[in-house]
Amino acid sequence: MLNLGLAIAFYGGEFMEIMVDVKNINKDFYTLEGELNVLKDINFSVEKGEILAILGPSGCGKSTLLNILSGLLKPDFGEVYIKGKIGYMFQRDHLLEWRSIMDNITIGLEIQKKLDNNHKKRIEGLLKDYGLWEFRNRYPKELSGGMRQRVALIRTLAVDPDILLLDEAFSSLDYQTRLLVSDDIYKIIKNEKKTTILVTHDISEAISMADFVGVLSRRPSTIKSIHDINLTVEGDKTPLSARKAPEFKDYFDVLWKELDIYEK
Ligand code: ADP
Ligand code: MG
Repeated sequence: MLNLGLAIAFYGGEFMEIMVDVKNINKDFYTLEGELNVLKDINFSVEKGEILAILGPSGCGKSTLLNILSGLLKPDFGEVYIKGKIGYMFQRDHLLEWRSIMDNITIGLEIQKKLDNNHKKRIEGLLKDYGLWEFRNRYPKELSGGMRQRVALIRTLAVDPDILLLDEAFSSLDYQTRLLVSDDIYKIIKNEKKTTILVTHDISEAISMADFVGVLSRRPSTIKSIHDINLTVEGDKTPLSARKAPEFKDYFDVLWKELDIYEK
């Protein structure tokens, strides 16, 4: 996590590639009730293959920030540098009930008229690798919530994005399913070596998924602090094993205090 304003930075003896660099983003909304200052002086950067979690309470501007990163919204001022293609995964899976799983996954490429044999092979591989091949001709209503989220992720990966944006992607699932699906999705993200920014209001999800956690203040939201997450786990780190790390509770306590959930 560097913020040198350079596309390539020398760090820890290796060259790291900056994929996302955000400088002084500000965003206000004008509503019937007046001006709403949502984001103020947001600064951060993410290097290739890193997962950054941005943690903040509901209504603080997390979706607004991802909409700005994806280009759906313009900031009032500030700069966004993005290296490569973005894949955006929303809180709801937005699967079309009348299309099969395969047809849901290919829809973006079909609309862009880019569905060629290379893409078809890649999608076939993703479906096989992540346990959905047998379900390719089924319809969304026949799948569990967790499987639907995996389909939504594969649809996002089908266009081979360099950067993934996840907007509270697990919050519609019940608790046990959320743990399992976040574990699955983490493994897919790491396997596919995607640079990821996820936003969440869930402290445990942020610690267990991310390499770094940025904490948003109350509105107008700014990033108060960025914590480097280092957990001692046996074997490979996954969100489930991360939750058993001895340091987990300490991070939780620090982030809980910083989140400022209660009115003062
Ligand atoms: P979060 O994702 O953290 O819950 P949002 O980014 O969705 O927060 O919203 C931040 C604030 O901005 C909220 O108070 C919301 O009501 C308001 N808001 C979001 N989009 C608009 C818009 N297009 N016009 C006016 N207000 C908006
Ligand atoms: Mg939101």
